[in-house]
Amino acid sequence: MMELSERDIQFLQGVGPQRASLLEKELNIRSFKDLLYYFPYKYVDRSRIYTIAEIDGNMPYIQLRGQVLSFETQGEGAKRRLVGHFSDGTGVIDLVWFQGLKFVTGRYKAHEDYLVFGKPTVFGQRVTIVHPDIDRADEAVCSSLGLRPYYSTTERMKRHILTSNAIEKLMANLFRVLQNETIEETLSPALLTAHHLMPLADALFAIHFPKNPDQLRKAQYRLKFEELFYVQLHILRYTQERRLKYRGFVFNRIGEVFNTFYSQHLPFPLTGAQKRVIREMRSDLCSGRQMNRLLQGDVGSGKTLVALMTMLIALDNGFQACMMAPTEILATQHYETIRRFLEGMEVRVELLTGSIKGKRRETILRDLLTGDVHILIGTHAVIEDTVNFSSLGLVVIDEQHRFGVAQRAKLWAKNACPPHVLVMTATPIPRTLAMTLYGDLDVSVIDELPPGRKPVKTMHQFDNRRPSLYAFLRAQIQEGRQVYIVYPLIQESEKMDIKNLEDGYLHICEAFPDCRISKVHGKMKPAEKEEEMQRFLRNETQIMVATTVIEVGVNVPNASVMVIENAERFGLSQLHQLRGRVGRGADQSYCVLVTGYKLTEDTRRRLEIMVQTNDGFEIAEADLKLRGPGDLEGTQQSGIAFDLKIADIALDGQLLQYVRGIAERLLDEDPNAERPENAVVWKHLLEMRKEQVNWSVIS
Ligand code: ADP
Ligand code: MG
Repeated sequence: MMELSERDIQFLQGVGPQRASLLEKELNIRSFKDLLYYFPYKYVDRSRIYTIAEIDGNMPYIQLRGQVLSFETQGEGAKRRLVGHFSDGTGVIDLVWFQGLKFVTGRYKAHEDYLVFGKPTVFGQRVTIVHPDIDRADEAVCSSLGLRPYYSTTERMKRHILTSNAIEKLMANLFRVLQNETIEETLSPALLTAHHLMPLADALFAIHFPKNPDQLRKAQYRLKFEELFYVQLHILRYTQERRLKYRGFVFNRIGEVFNTFYSQHLPFPLTGAQKRVIREMRSDLCSGRQMNRLLQGDVGSGKTLVALMTMLIALDNGFQACMMAPTEILATQHYETIRRFLEGMEVRVELLTGSIKGKRRETILRDLLTGDVHILIGTHAVIEDTVNFSSLGLVVIDEQHRFGVAQRAKLWAKNACPPHVLVMTATPIPRTLAMTLYGDLDVSVIDELPPGRKPVKTMHQFDNRRPSLYAFLRAQIQEGRQVYIVYPLIQESEKMDIKNLEDGYLHICEAFPDCRISKVHGKMKPAEKEEEMQRFLRNETQIMVATTVIEVGVNVPNASVMVIENAERFGLSQLHQLRGRVGRGADQSYCVLVTGYKLTEDTRRRLEIMVQTNDGFEIAEADLKLRGPGDLEGTQQSGIAFDLKIADIALDGQLLQYVRGIAERLLDEDPNAERPENAVVWKHLLEMRKEQVNWSVIS
């Protein structure tokens, strides 16, 4: 028998060429298998049959069993409709059709037993159901009634009468074909028994045609289990293979540079979290394996210092280190910070960005090759082919999601042996998501802020309270502070974006005639942008009006207020990132979320969360729940495109952790994939890897 994945959907009974092309274009369904795995998005209970006497005005969908007493057409022209007077012995209602009149009268007869399904409308004494679903009430149908599946369809499909109902019928045809075939089990008997899982064939039937909610739950559980299990097994296996393939440099010395810095140059004691994270990295660095670690830490948690100390370990072991930031201004800030930290030490740090050219650049490139430059800090410029090191041992990447997978991979080519990699991000990723997205990265978390920080006070204000807001801003500016005012990017239209910002800018200029005001947006030339940022940094301007270009990393400790206009247009993580621009100095800082009056429930919830907490992880979890993983910032570029069909990372986090444990144990017990009892699992993993070209994992 041909594999289900190779059988053209066109040849399923009820499909044919026209529907096949629609299914492919609209839902990407090409084979029998694709259809089988097209799961319903909801179910409606049809296990119960109601009586007409029971109907009241606020029932959702109901099902009745009875006969049409007579059909009658009413009205003329566009108002023409077909009415079937339907009775089950307890009363009479009207079934009404506005379309497909001929089809209905051709198909259904008076005085035959039917099951009628639909939403009743009660108007006075009359009850109608418009466009009901009708099935013949033979015993086979009645005894198999359960939950009715609903499949999502597109407008185009609906126009061609390829409705949820039609898909349900196709699914029934498909299962008729499958009756004579075996659906190959994808989990081993041991797993099925140990975790009380429904066999695959049963689960697939039950997910489309569940008899009752309990059976549905079991089917869903089985399919989610399998899906998450294989995602995890894939990631873990990939990591294992990579580790075998690539050995890492061994940094087993903690020597003079690190120790001198630690005992003589460290301006403040490390926080407990910083110490723990440095320990975690040290153990990676001397393990003989290549380090591949994601360092998560909220804005201001002191990641730069941790990165620096890790780089010093590389230096102590005779290697160079390099640090990349997504923008020139960030790279420059890192460069200056690190130079300041290392003042008086014999460590040569250089900055390389696109704007460093000519002689200066030549010197840096030459000294990198001789090993005279110890630490290189820069933008994308450092991964250009012309940049070569004498012995690059560690790469630190700040704000990871701005760097694509391909760019990161380029770094590896700079050495015979890949350098250790430390990726830093201030966008907290919930653990569950990190496990699927960055499954091959080890994760360290700085979950503690340096002492003495005043948490940013966050307020929500409606935009008609602007006068009092401006009074507050004026007072802050008079005290010497600076203010950010951020406008949202309106994705649909760049022109609108700029207009929005320009209007805002003019308005602010009028409202603050005594202040100097900067303006920065994404369409400016990098050099101009840079210059405006620098002016603000030097306190030559007091107000910075900007789009979200200032989101990442910029450090202006004297800025104490972040005003976010149209805050309803921002996601939670983005709001949190923006808020992180203030609260970097000793003074109390504020974040003001400005919105109009009309807010959706979700927006209200987002604003509440922002006002309540400063904890990035809490916010990330909430964000995941509110928006779903696909929308999370940073996940699009993350490198793994898992197309989850049934599991939901936001809702199934617990199951995800559970199956990860199971996958880990399996790999531990059978590292060479050779035990016969796991044969099913390894075979299936291999097949999935072949099918899913998308499963490229970041490295
Ligand atoms: P982020 O994690 O957002 O990159 P930074 O590394 O920029 O944070 O650190 C924020 C500020 O906190 C910097 O001014 C840094 O010097 C300071 N800092 C870092 N670690 C400590 C510490 N242990 N104690 C006090 N201040 C610290
Ligand atoms: Mg930083």
